[in-house]
Amino acid sequence: MPAKGYNNLIGGKWVPSRTGKTFPNVNPARHDDVLGEFQASGAADIDAAVKAAAEAWKTWRLTPAPARAVILYRTGELLLERKEQYAREMTREMGKVLAETRGDVQEAIDTAFYMAGEGRRLFGQTTPSELQNKFAMSVRMPVGVCGMIAPWNFPMAIPSWKLFPALVCGNTCVIKPAEDTPLSTFNLVQTLIDAGLPPGVVNIVTGFGPEAGAPLVEHPLVRAVSFTGSSEVGRIVGQTAAAHFKPCSLEMGGKNAMIVLEDANLDLALDGALWGAFGTTGQRCTATSRIIVHKDVIRDFTEELVDRAEALRLGDGLDPEIQMGPQINRQQIETSIRYCEIAKKEGAKILTGGKPLTKGAYAKGHFFAPTVVGKVKPGMRIAQEEVFGPVVSILECSSFDEALAIANNIQYGLSTAIYTRDVNRAFRAVRDLEAGITYVNAPTIGAEVHLPFGGVKQTGNGHREGGTGALDFYTTWKSVYFDYSDKLQRAQIDTGE
Ligand code: ADP
Repeated sequence: MPAKGYNNLIGGKWVPSRTGKTFPNVNPARHDDVLGEFQASGAADIDAAVKAAAEAWKTWRLTPAPARAVILYRTGELLLERKEQYAREMTREMGKVLAETRGDVQEAIDTAFYMAGEGRRLFGQTTPSELQNKFAMSVRMPVGVCGMIAPWNFPMAIPSWKLFPALVCGNTCVIKPAEDTPLSTFNLVQTLIDAGLPPGVVNIVTGFGPEAGAPLVEHPLVRAVSFTGSSEVGRIVGQTAAAHFKPCSLEMGGKNAMIVLEDANLDLALDGALWGAFGTTGQRCTATSRIIVHKDVIRDFTEELVDRAEALRLGDGLDPEIQMGPQINRQQIETSIRYCEIAKKEGAKILTGGKPLTKGAYAKGHFFAPTVVGKVKPGMRIAQEEVFGPVVSILECSSFDEALAIANNIQYGLSTAIYTRDVNRAFRAVRDLEAGITYVNAPTIGAEVHLPFGGVKQTGNGHREGGTGALDFYTTWKSVYFDYSDKLQRAQIDTGE
């Protein structure tokens, strides 16, 4: 049976790409399972989508925010009804286990309800004027057409973090999903349409980065760009946006540290380490990739972590017994292999895993054994560079201060965690860890949608998704002065002093 064909969504119509080319969406756990053929789009498709979004903006920006919010609320309700179907399709296109894809859809539901609430807030400020009979306030204004480029690891949650705040703020959108996981964006946007979203307000153009992503960033009618992905591509996107003076939100890599002090509840820390390192097959930007363990407990901790990693059940995430799915594609497997080789050459030791699984049922997918690397020193590449796979390094520390220094000795700054029962050291860690997120006695993964999400240093460029941080990106402030004195009043001059 030929795979189902999916077109681009432009101005409310499903249309094929002008390139005439398509690409398959393949299940990373079973290569013979093709979810569909998607459009391999180019600059002409992006141009049409951006123009449709610009046209739709003329009316969408005038739709009252509470009315925009009703559509988001209804979207949340519909997603709840469709959660199981969308989660199953997401497991097939992305590979992570069903419990996690249900969580991914749930994150979109949470974001829908949270941002629907914003429809009746979107607060600005009223403030006194320095002049008599003059009124001053600041109001949030929509930005216009927003371009969005999404990654494959949270195929519905991340598009929802971008689309829902942008929509409630009165913007229109063109989204380019990741080439590995376009179907979940289709499911999300179909739900918006079913909830009453007018044509052209959200447009989808599928395709590859340089052909479809780059023209979206460059398009002169795109007023803001939101990108989540690798640091290499983020740098290109950021530089292009800067050349056009466009606001650009970049959310990129991490090399997230978990500190385990000698007084930690070790069993709890091990639960956290296993989930943080191998949840989503290590393919989260917040994945735990460095565990900094006090020398007094490192032996016990390491032995137990290796045992637990070896006991993980790998396979097709649709099977409820399975705990860890495949990596997304061959390239990610190559990266995991390469970093294990680099680690060995640097003098680190692969304590378990370190290789792809290719026999039996694994031969049909991109499976990599859960990998624990020991004897890692802070300066090694395996301790510095993002792997984005099920590979975790263990580093030894002799003191709390040394643990903080190792954790901060890194170009990234997304998520961090500390396990300790000492409240004083926990608070110092919260203060001193250079990261956008710090967990105490919980792993580095597990962000909630109403808090700001993002990092410091080379993880991002200062913007935040989630919470009210997203509203700051998708609106621009307008200061409004209302003079009812009926005469010219000059600020700083006619103040009567
Ligand atoms: P990953 O390594 O997680 O796949 P990438 O940064 O390669 O991350 O991809 C993230 C998103 O950026 C994808 O949607 C991809 O198609 C897009 N992308 C890749 N290259 C470019 C580019 N040159 N310009 C714009 N978008 C791009």
